[in-house]
Amino acid sequence: MPIYEYRCEKCSSQFEVLTSFAERDRAQVCPTCESTRTRVQVSSFASFGAAEGAASLGSGALPASSGGCCGGSCGCGSRN
Ligand SMILES: [Zn+2]
Repeated sequence: MPIYEYRCEKCSSQFEVLTSFAERDRAQVCPTCESTRTRVQVSSFASFGAAEGAASLGSGALPASSGGCCGGSCGCGSRN
């Protein structure tokens, strides 16, 4: 199973959880403050080059904001 990185929105700590893809978007319990207000960070395969590239461009725009994050297979663009 892949390791996903989460960030706690309460105490801002980051931690990694070994979980399945299906469970990725579920809130994990923060090991620091036990809050469930956590969010998964970008997956490892995209976090390296993509994150640095977006930062260097300074656009701050994620592909999801344009409704084309996955070609429509996730339904994110169905509203349009
Ligand atoms: Zn926390």
